[in-house]
Parts: sequence; structure tokens; C-alpha cells
Amino acid sequence: RAKQAGRNSFSFYTPDMNARSKELLLLEASFRQAIEEEQLVLHFQPQIDLFTGHVRGVEALVRWEHPEKGMISPGDFIPLAEETGLIVPMGEWVLRQACRHAVRWRDLGFAPIRMTVNISARQFLKERLIETVLGILAETGLEPDDLELEITESMIMHDIERATGIMNRIAETGIHLAIDDFGTGYSSLAHLKRFPLTTLKIDRAFVKDIGSNLEDEAIIKAIIALAHSLDLQVVAEGIETMEQYGFLKENGCEQGQGFLFSRPVPADRISPLLRPRPLF
Ligand code: C2E
Ligand code: MG
Ligand code: MG
Ligand code: MG
Repeated sequence: RAKQAGRNSFSFYTPDMNARSKELLLLEASFRQAIEEEQLVLHFQPQIDLFTGHVRGVEALVRWEHPEKGMISPGDFIPLAEETGLIVPMGEWVLRQACRHAVRWRDLGFAPIRMTVNISARQFLKERLIETVLGILAETGLEPDDLELEITESMIMHDIERATGIMNRIAETGIHLAIDDFGTGYSSLAHLKRFPLTTLKIDRAFVKDIGSNLEDEAIIKAIIALAHSLDLQVVAEGIETMEQYGFLKENGCEQGQGFLFSRPVPADRISPLLRPRPLF
């Protein structure tokens, strides 16, 4: 079965809009079924302290194990899930599973590892987000300090007042907040200092160009400096090469994740990655 089928398996484009909406409806039905029948699965990618090799946390990344199409990546179904509203039950499933896994690892004797979960725009703006998250923490026994929620700049900037209110309520519970893909959206620096954030994540697009694009390197340095001056942690995404790793370290970026350290892996392959190990 084609494991790689994900990328192009759903092509929404067709000149016949009727066919398109039929396809969407079918897809919606099969995604609804996917949630109900537990065809979704979480993979986890370690976030590493670039100086010590210590694991600061893991990011939970959802996949769809489609019975016929094989593994489908989130880029191919999250937009659909957003559009149909199924992102809300999906997001709740992701949170619950992620917290359960984190507690299991803690109970197995691993030092507490921060579980990082991506939150979608629709989920973020939902009235019941906080109640849902707190309910899941109570149910699973995970500490708020061991959970970080990733949101994006556009989710905040769309309605700053409202987003600030939601962020404040989340932060008051002790749950951490990270801005994902930082640098790609339009953030007002004046606002940034008033948001109750723990972490900025440097977008992979900048990291990819280390060594070949001076502007992107300058942007990375600026983000690191900004994070430090606002007393935020900074995590670089998508580190694939020793050159990128070296550049980030040299410029004081403390944390990162990427294929150089580990691809996202299923839960049963995470334990060796959680043990302290030397970095190269
Ligand atoms: P993201 O949150 O920015 O996640 C980082 C993406 O980069 C992941 O793709 C990860 O597998 C990939 N990645 C990590 N290291 C490297 C690397 O060194 N090189 C390259 N080329 N890629 C790397 P993935 O898992 O396909 O997820 C894509 C996006 O889908 C995520 O971007 C996130 O926005 C969204 N997503 C994933 N899981 C969830 C979820 O549970 N809920 C929501 N709402 N969104 C999710
Ligand atoms: Mg993320
Ligand atoms: Mg990201
Ligand atoms: Mg990204």
C-alpha cells in the first residue's frame, strides 16, 4: 500500500464544481469516519536543547492512516477539517491523546517532557477551548506546566483584542503558549511584548536557507534577539543539516527540532529519543 500517497492523493481542483463539491462531501464523510474509527494517529518529534542535547519537549503531529490511501499528512486534510468544522472534534482528540501519551511517558520514569500541541484557528476561537483543555488535563493528570499550545500569528492578528483575552486565560492556568511559524505572518512587535507567551518558533522557511540566503540569516538573528529581549524561549523548526545547526547555535538559539535529530515518530518509537544522549 502506498505509504507516500498522501501528498497528491486529494486534488480538489476540477473544472466541474459539482464534482468538486461531491468529492468534498465524500471526503468529509470519510474524515468523520476517520475520527470515529480512530484512523488518526499521532507522531511525535523531539524538541532538543541545542547546547546540551536535553529533550525540552515533543511536538504532537497528527496523521491520517487511511484504509486505502495509506498515510495522509496533515497538510492534506487540516484545511478540509477547518472548512467543515471537524477540526474541533479532531483537535480535542489530538489533545487528549497527546496528554495521555505524555502522562504515560512520565509514569514510565522519563523526566517530565513538555507536550506541544498545534491549535487551529477555529479551535482557538471556540468558546469552550479552555474548558476542554482543562477537562483533558484533569482527566489525564497532566500538569498545565507540561503542556504548550502552538498558535500562529494570523490567529492572533485577525482580532487582537479577542485573541489577547483567550491567550491571557490560557496563560493564567499555567499552560504555555508558543507562536508557530514565527516570521511568516504579520505580527506587530508592539503587541508581541504584551502577549503572555513562552516560546517563539522560527519558521522552517528561514532555517532552510541558512548558508544560501543572507537575508534569511539576518531574519533568524533578529528573531533570536527579539525572543531574548522579550525573555522568550526560541525554537528553530526544520533543522536538517549540521550547517544549520551550527549557525543556530552560534547565534544563540537554544532549542530546535528537525530531521537532523529525529523525524516525527510513532509513540512506540519515542522512548530511545527521550533518553539524554550526546549530540554528535
Ligand atoms: P508545524 O506545526 O509547523 O509542524 C512542523 C512540520 O514540519 C511538520 O509537518 C513536521 O513533520 C515537519 N518537519 C519537522 N522537521 C522537519 C525537517 O527537518 N525538515 C522538513 N522538511 N520538515 C520537517 P507535518 O507533520 O506534515 O505537519 C504540517 C502542519 O500541519 C503542521 O506544521 C501544523 O501546522 C499542522 N498540524 C499537524 N498536526 C496538527 C494537529 O494536531 N492539529 C492542527 N491544528 N494542526 C496540525
Ligand atoms: Mg507546530
Ligand atoms: Mg511550525
Ligand atoms: Mg511550519
